[in-house]
Amino acid sequence: MDQCPPECPRLIERPFPIVISAASGTGKTTVVEKLLSSDGRIVRVLTATTRPPRGGEQKDVDYLFLSEEEFTTRKKAGYFAETALVHGHWYGVPKENVAAGLKKGKWVVLNVDVQGGLAIKKTFPDAVLIFLLPPSLEELETRLRGRGTDSDEEIAKRMDQALREMTVAAEYDYVVVNDEVKDCTNRLLAIVRAETSRTARGLVMPKGRPTK
Ligand code: ADP
Repeated sequence: MDQCPPECPRLIERPFPIVISAASGTGKTTVVEKLLSSDGRIVRVLTATTRPPRGGEQKDVDYLFLSEEEFTTRKKAGYFAETALVHGHWYGVPKENVAAGLKKGKWVVLNVDVQGGLAIKKTFPDAVLIFLLPPSLEELETRLRGRGTDSDEEIAKRMDQALREMTVAAEYDYVVVNDEVKDCTNRLLAIVRAETSRTARGLVMPKGRPTK
């Protein structure tokens, strides 16, 4: 594209937010880590929480740690693109952090719960929403058990919740099955690349020519 003379059409690669959601245990954290390490132009966004830092977590690196009061004030002021109450603690995606990443020319990944993705699209209409599905319910249960963090009762609850959450998949732009981590990551990268090449996102036509 650099060698293209001014009378040529050109593509300006405009970054956009990539929202990834999945029922707990699908492998979202694993796949997002892989996506971040596969392309330096894809970055994570610093999100806010009212939960206290866990051992080793750094302020303004792992999370923006806020008091409940500060969080509520910012929420009322429209500071967040999306908020969620999880196990009694608030989490939120600061609009300004997403905008700052995009301004730096980075594709910003947002790892949000299934309701959150639709809220993000309201603030950032050019966001691409991708829903990850497990290959089967049996495999989801195996992965939840494999994490070794939940009791049988907790796993039964998570499976019920997963079934409810998966119905939201139809409202997302893309659905990708996380059968194998590398393959799933490659499909996510393919989506990001195809979306980046969309004419509506970045094609600039020379003046005086029809635009379509
Ligand atoms: P989530 O963030 O969606 O709750 P995790 O990334 O914590 O899920 O993954 C849940 C478990 O499943 C982890 O033990 C992880 O190693 C495993 N896992 C993730 N993706 C795959 C995959 N494609 N195949 C097999 N196991 C996977």
